[in-house]
Amino acid sequence: MLLGVIADDLTGATDVSLMLAREGMRVVQTVGVPASASALPDADAVVVSLKSRTNPAAEAVAWSLASCEALLGAGARQILFKYCSTFDSTDEGNIGPVTEALVARLKAPWTVACPAFPANGRSVYQGHLFVGQQLLSDSPMKDHPLTPMRDANLVRVLQRQTRLPVGLAPTSTVNKGAAAVRGAFEALAKDGPAIGIGDAISDDHLRILGEAFAGQPLLTGGSGIALGLPANFRRAGLLGDAGEARSFGAPAGHSAILAGSCSAATRGQVQDAQEKGVPAFALDPVAIAAGRMTAADVLAWARPKLGAAPILVYSTAEPEAVRAVQERFGRDEAGAMIERLLGEVAKGLAAAGVKRLVVAGGETSGAVVGALGAAALEIGPEIDPGVPWTLTAGGEPMALALKSGNFGTRDFFTKALKMLG
Ligand code: ADP
Repeated sequence: MLLGVIADDLTGATDVSLMLAREGMRVVQTVGVPASASALPDADAVVVSLKSRTNPAAEAVAWSLASCEALLGAGARQILFKYCSTFDSTDEGNIGPVTEALVARLKAPWTVACPAFPANGRSVYQGHLFVGQQLLSDSPMKDHPLTPMRDANLVRVLQRQTRLPVGLAPTSTVNKGAAAVRGAFEALAKDGPAIGIGDAISDDHLRILGEAFAGQPLLTGGSGIALGLPANFRRAGLLGDAGEARSFGAPAGHSAILAGSCSAATRGQVQDAQEKGVPAFALDPVAIAAGRMTAADVLAWARPKLGAAPILVYSTAEPEAVRAVQERFGRDEAGAMIERLLGEVAKGLAAAGVKRLVVAGGETSGAVVGALGAAALEIGPEIDPGVPWTLTAGGEPMALALKSGNFGTRDFFTKALKMLG
């Protein structure tokens, strides 16, 4: 293993996995704190996906350190702590506390914090994070229910979360190249370990920052900060050419689609699949709550229809319908109930021979991966920006496409399955 990544959520982990795979690394994503180093798969990069973004800081630190230990034990030469490109955190953490703990464990002389992802409109200039043309603090992130971001100055934001000194590697320095960046970090850390916010308003900046961290034990950031890392390993003769990434072999078997997202993009995708004649089962939250609709009912409907052509099971609904259900059952309870049912359906479909499964919804994907008991996902080809096919590792392999709600073109479902041939 060359690179070990600790990601603070599941779809963020997929995002960075895809970034590394695109740059020619063989990547496996694992789910949850690894049991041990020997439990980790063999790959150029292993991405451990945690669900630690909004937990108490002490828990996030403990899980991240345990993951770091397993990654180091499996041979990782460098660790990347991956968080959201909108720097989702509070004054209590978890970006600062986790970074501080990893700096101490890895004896890192200095590290970077850079959430920039210019291709997705996240840029950092003079330490300030922009979302598109807006400062972070003017963007919709200011009203996030769990991690409202009301300060765009990342030096200030991160300094409130850590005892380590936080400084800045400004654009003027990054423009001068990797040696200048290294010089700036060494200066920041002249009295002991320090964190530098890395300015980056282009992919070139991200590649320079990456190059500056060749051989360093720790980086932190969004998936963009991973952009330059494969080239470091290639330059050191540790990684083959980009073309050498292994091919993706999807297992033969039945196809199915599960949609638990109610996002606009998913609503269009569910409609598109139905227009194309995909047999569809609509979940009714009221009937589920009353016990009149169960996973067994869905599976009894689905089994005779299974084959190469997909079936669709969806809870996807318009906002008014979702609101009505939430008012009746509570937002979290309604969500958990539907996630649980879709998880059971996924398990039943797998038992019935489904080997190619498309899932729509971030939380829904987490529930399905959990129900399937998939401990690791090998990253395959990209279907749409940010969404790859993955292959479950360990046990019977299954091809999974896990789509965050708002991702993908209108024909995503059928397009994804067609890709597998
Ligand atoms: P997205 O990626 O679009 O946010 P998620 O799967 O993360 O999708 O979240 C959608 C949430 O809404 C899940 O908890 C899901 O169970 C819940 N949900 C799905 N369908 C309905 C519905 N018809 N009514 C109420 N909640 C629903």
